[in-house]
Parts: sequence; structure tokens; C-alpha cells
Amino acid sequence: MGVVTLTIDNKEVKAEEGMTVLEAAQSAGIYIPTLCHHEKLETYTACRICMVEVESRGRVRLDTACSHPVANDMVVKTRSEKINKIRKTLLELMLAHAPDSAILQEMAEEYGADKGRFEKESSFCIHCALCVRYCAEVKKKNAIGFVNSGTKREISFVPEIASQECWKCKECFPLCPTEALQAAYVLAGALTFPVAPFELR
Ligand code: SF4
Repeated sequence: MGVVTLTIDNKEVKAEEGMTVLEAAQSAGIYIPTLCHHEKLETYTACRICMVEVESRGRVRLDTACSHPVANDMVVKTRSEKINKIRKTLLELMLAHAPDSAILQEMAEEYGADKGRFEKESSFCIHCALCVRYCAEVKKKNAIGFVNSGTKREISFVPEIASQECWKCKECFPLCPTEALQAAYVLAGALTFPVAPFELR
């Protein structure tokens, strides 16, 4: 595999062909924020918080760093007025779902996002799908999925599977950026799991 040379935030970076801008930045110690990215999972581009400005062959465009492949002579900016504005709005939309999330609050402070800008949504879920994808791609259990659509879209445990699998697994709980997944599991267990093995040990 060939090596390409690009510039990220004025720093020359060498990366392997096929890498994404996010991977190249991380390998060079350059921070790009992410919420739905996980190194064990397929690229998903749902949260879009890793949006960067990419200049390549004389053309500048905005794209998600987690999906954009590196190329020779590419110039990447991880911060700019435009990027900051986009991240601010994205955070405000996510805070409508999870105003108490520590990671969202920390990012909101950095980008000046207002957690009261959009009306509070009833679901805590910010649709990163980390739990759903982790369970499907890594655990191969499909104990959790999405229901509803639009802003009402939220995760739901599949009672027949979750009641058998989750209590001995719990691997997706710490992945949730809103920190609400474990509570959702306990609630789902209390309300809908049909058999006794529901237990949170
Ligand atoms: S805790 Fe349950 S939903 Fe989460 S990864 Fe494990 S089996 Fe899947």
C-alpha cells in the first residue's frame, strides 16, 4: 500500500493510502471530535461532528473526516468559522435529546452551543447507533435496534434476546454518549422482558 502526504492544520502528515482523514489525523496526534465513530465498527457518518474542510485539486468542500479518504497534496482544516458553526448547531440538536450528557455539555462549552435552543425531545437517543451497531457487528446478537423515524427515532431492546444476553454482556452501555443506555435497559427489563433472567449484575 502506498504512502500519501497531506497537510492537516498546517502540519505535514504521512498516511497510508486507503486511510480516512480521521485516521490520518489520529495517527499524527491531531484531535477531531467524534460521537458515532468506533474503531471496531463500520463507518456510519451519523453524528457529522467530525466535519472538516478538505481542499483537493483546487476544490474546497466540507465532509466527514471519518469517511473522507486521504489523497496526496490534500489540505485539511479541522477548525474554521464554518466548521465551528456546523458543530455548534449539531450539538444544539443533540442536546435537545440529551441535555445532561457530560460529553455533549463539554463539547457545547467549547463550541458555544446553547442547550435550550431547540425544544426538548422525549427520547434521550442522539442516533449515533453505537449500541445497535456494536451489538450487531461485534457481538452478533441484534439485541437492540431502532424504532420510529425522524426525531422520534430511538433505540429499543428486543426483549426475547436482550433478556437472555444483556445482563452477561453490557458491553455497549459505556459506548452511549448520552450515558442513558443502562437506565433504558433497566426500564425495558422492568416493563417488557418476558422471562426471569433479566438482571443487572
Ligand atoms: S448489552 Fe445487550 S444490546 Fe448491548 S451489546 Fe451486549 S447483548 Fe447487545
